[in-house]
Amino acid sequence: MSEPSTGRAASGQDEVVDLTRDLIRIDTSNYGDHSGPGERAAAEYVAEKLAEVGLEPRIFESHPGRASVVARVEGEDRSRPGLLIHGHTDVVPANAADWTHDPFSGEVADGCVWGRGAVDMKDMDAMTLAVVRDRLRTGRKPPRDLVLAFLADEEAGGTWGARHLVDHHADLFEGVTEAIGEVGGFSFTVNEKLRLYLVETAQKGMHWMKLTVAGTAGHGSMIHRDNAITELSEAVGRLGRYEFPIRVTKTLRHFLDELGDALGTELDPENMDETLAKLGGMAKLIGASLKNTANPTQLGAGYKVNVIPGEATAHVDGRFLPGYEEEFLADLDRILGPRVRREDVHADKALETGFDGALVDAMQTALGAEDPIAKAVPYMLSAGTDAKSFDDLGIRCFGFAPLRLPADLDFAGMFHGVDERVPVDALQFGVRVLDRFIDAS
Ligand SMILES: [Zn+2]
Repeated sequence: MSEPSTGRAASGQDEVVDLTRDLIRIDTSNYGDHSGPGERAAAEYVAEKLAEVGLEPRIFESHPGRASVVARVEGEDRSRPGLLIHGHTDVVPANAADWTHDPFSGEVADGCVWGRGAVDMKDMDAMTLAVVRDRLRTGRKPPRDLVLAFLADEEAGGTWGARHLVDHHADLFEGVTEAIGEVGGFSFTVNEKLRLYLVETAQKGMHWMKLTVAGTAGHGSMIHRDNAITELSEAVGRLGRYEFPIRVTKTLRHFLDELGDALGTELDPENMDETLAKLGGMAKLIGASLKNTANPTQLGAGYKVNVIPGEATAHVDGRFLPGYEEEFLADLDRILGPRVRREDVHADKALETGFDGALVDAMQTALGAEDPIAKAVPYMLSAGTDAKSFDDLGIRCFGFAPLRLPADLDFAGMFHGVDERVPVDALQFGVRVLDRFIDAS
């Protein structure tokens, strides 16, 4: 589907594809241990694109090669609070052998730009650059200050990117009260009269945990009643099979109300199977926002077949809904039992904000102007983003990287997936929407 250009953000629409391709061609694979190439080359590219239109971008290198870029765009009314637009420049690694087109070639084929980062999230980085460059070239100041942040290390928790800037350079974000970033603003076509755009207003929190059971070591041939592996396996089995209860957060309630309205039926959160079946690829996203989860992901014990080890360990990826952390931890302890020692390897908070206010209105206005059947709805992301760091500064964060997608594209499956790609006309749509959004913000 395509629409005639509205004449707004005209040159931004022209260059967004090249910007996306250029960024994809800069390999910024993040292995989580500094073994990747780092984000420095991408940061220099972004800084050059911003400097070309008169901005004064600053590069922050938190660790050799791990660089982020921040720039401030002066608004018409500098007394108003600023708006942050943030994106990360790192990507998860890709195995080229699995892909139809080389993941770092930025090839355009079948109407899409292909490559690692095409949707997560060099697309939004490029859209942001395209819109800001166009506005500055044509002398269209944003109504209020914009802070642009292109960040390292999101895919490994943001330690060397967003976290570093928030902890050591908070002054960059002075006066900023609201932000947009990943993962939201993409479309889900319900029918020919309605296209939902899922705006992220909430994120689950996480507890990545190590479980340990200490037992008695001994000879594998003997009668042995205190086996750490047996004890731990049973606990992990109980946890892995446990059905956490459905909890209706305000984000889920709002989402179900909007979707129910759209479908002309009331949706019962306790009976979600039917609803999820109607959501196609989006079911993956929404399904995980109904309840806490705890998935066992690693096991470790023993070193020889005839030796009973004194200890067994497991790792669990736990995610909790906003407002349900205490319940989650209590459930874990009850299910695991007293023999299992549980410790956090990494933990982060949940986020939830309301789907209301002028910024949300600006999203709906901008989407509606470019897509007459658009309706913005809130949803909760089961994972985390850099928004968690910015929330520490009191910034209200939304996932809004607008893309109008073909109804049959498995968009949720694109994130970290093989053959990640973004339609060219979705990028151009995103540029037009972001441009209008900035005007309305
Ligand atoms: Zn991402």
